[in-house]
Amino acid sequence: MTGTPSAPGSGALSLCGVCTENRCCIGPLDIFLDDEDRTRLGITTETISIEGEGPCRFLGERGCVFGSRKPFMCSIYPVAPMLPLEPLRLGSHETCPCAGEELGEQATAARRAIQQKLRTADGRKLVRKIAEYYDGELTPLK
Ligand code: SF4
Ligand code: SF4
Repeated sequence: MTGTPSAPGSGALSLCGVCTENRCCIGPLDIFLDDEDRTRLGITTETISIEGEGPCRFLGERGCVFGSRKPFMCSIYPVAPMLPLEPLRLGSHETCPCAGEELGEQATAARRAIQQKLRTADGRKLVRKIAEYYDGELTPLK
């Protein structure tokens, strides 16, 4: 459960830390996990759930304690897949102050990571769960 602490919050790439409140790690929130996440992180549950408005139990003083090993869903945030999954379209989540901005390399990396997940049944299930979870809360990326 250790790793190099990342910048505050969950966002995968350069934008994380833009907001100082770590909004992406504050509940209420569900982080869905696939087998790959569970094996990597040593977590046995399907979901990391944050009930109420408190912080995720994995949010340390210097950001996510998992660092770059954080759950897939967190690693692509604020980017998320939109429904329907085909053709793949991406949006940014409204909770993040970067929503609606052009996310450039972050969006490209997230797209690549999502496409990789879509190659397996388990990964596909995870991508669908994420898309359903954020449905209606995403601003389409240009
Ligand atoms: S697992 Fe890490 S990145 Fe994800 S919500 Fe919790 S602290 Fe944030
Ligand atoms: S909400 Fe957005 S800007 Fe704030 S820490 Fe998370 S990814 Fe970074």
